[in-house]
Amino acid sequence: MEKIKMTTPLVEMDGDEMTRILWKMIKDELLLPFIELKTEYYDLGLEHRNETNDQVTVDSAEATKKYGVAVKCATITPNAARMTEYHLKEMWKSPNGTIRALLDGTVFRAPIVVKGIEPCVKNWEKPITLARHAYGDVYKNTEMKVPGPGKAELVFTAEDGTQTREVIHEFKGAGILQGIHNTEASIESFAKACFKFALDTKQDLWFATKDTISKKYDHTFKDIFAEIFEKEYKEKFEEAGIEYFYTLIDDAVARVMKAKGGFIWACKNYDGDVMSDMVSSAFGSLAMMTSVLVSPQGVYEYEAAHGTVQRHYYKHLAGEETSTNSVATIFAWTGALRKRGELDGITELSEFADRMERATLKTIEDGKMTKDLANITSLKNVTVLNSEEFIKEIRKTYEEM
Ligand code: NAP
Ligand code: MG
Repeated sequence: MEKIKMTTPLVEMDGDEMTRILWKMIKDELLLPFIELKTEYYDLGLEHRNETNDQVTVDSAEATKKYGVAVKCATITPNAARMTEYHLKEMWKSPNGTIRALLDGTVFRAPIVVKGIEPCVKNWEKPITLARHAYGDVYKNTEMKVPGPGKAELVFTAEDGTQTREVIHEFKGAGILQGIHNTEASIESFAKACFKFALDTKQDLWFATKDTISKKYDHTFKDIFAEIFEKEYKEKFEEAGIEYFYTLIDDAVARVMKAKGGFIWACKNYDGDVMSDMVSSAFGSLAMMTSVLVSPQGVYEYEAAHGTVQRHYYKHLAGEETSTNSVATIFAWTGALRKRGELDGITELSEFADRMERATLKTIEDGKMTKDLANITSLKNVTVLNSEEFIKEIRKTYEEM
């Protein structure tokens, strides 16, 4: 069989620990036998980030802007323990944070739904994709403890020196204060990425804030979304047969619990933090969650939502067998290859991605899976496979399909 050819390279961002081990297995068993894989390789493993003073992360993000599609392995975000473990020169920032900032992107997380792993919420038949605004609000706050009686004010000083004031509260005793902000530019990028991704995946888009209470702050989010929708996306949505739906955040939460799924839920930063953990745990397993960063210009970076699975890596280093789930990492590759196929008009590449995803799901539905899934499946007569056996089994399923 002739291998599928590519024209434009994928930006390949290698990573750390157990996911780096899976990365190589996936390439060797599931990709290289079938595709003349063309990638521009960036090693984002922590050692190489340290050697290059993290320049490699910046370079990989720039390459993503240039080519349009990247696939990323999970990477270590350094903390104090990693400083000693890897003899780091500095506590390098989270690569995901750096890449997201450079691409001005929004992260969309979606569960991979498979028969035998049922969501806790019975009526969720299709995935719910969560989009979290990743800038500002409480994550860039300024806080103060108020020691006793006094007046708190919000003051804005314009460049020409003119001031606008708003009384926050006349304190009678001790209390607390918090200042938060956001920018129109960031909200616009968020809105554009959401509309673009909804069109791309042909799913309805839901957005919610608390604009009835927050008549300026949250209302601005609502207005920016509405303006961009009217101006740039309304007709395209109608053509695609999808809907943009705005409601209050508490109403959205209630509706999500009763919904069938199959839509994108765009959330402000804090709502997204909280709700993405709820949605992902209710769908079963972090190891079955994909993540794609989409820029307002339509640049895509695909990855698994989970981390480097450190605990399994230490077992692997000690020579013990691991049963680490590679599904989300496989879907990062297939997501990126499918997008590359779409952009370059290579149908076989997109079809390969579809078929490899079906083979992965069929393997699980046939009762062959890693331990994390075996622990939660409703299927009977399950065979628990180790990390490598599972990937080899997917290859077998693919070749038999
Ligand atoms: P993690 O790697 O997601 O793993 C946490 C636990 O979840 C694992 O110990 C394992 O549970 C389970 N798990 C996650 N993925 C799994 C998989 N594919 N198969 C089977 N089980 C899986 O999170 P962490 O241990 O908190 O973080 C490890 C490193 O990853 C950190 O250095 C962190 O900075 C980094 N991280 C990177 C990203 C990213 O690059 N996007 C995201 C998050 C974290 P059991 O141990 O019970 O089997
Ligand atoms: Mg969280």
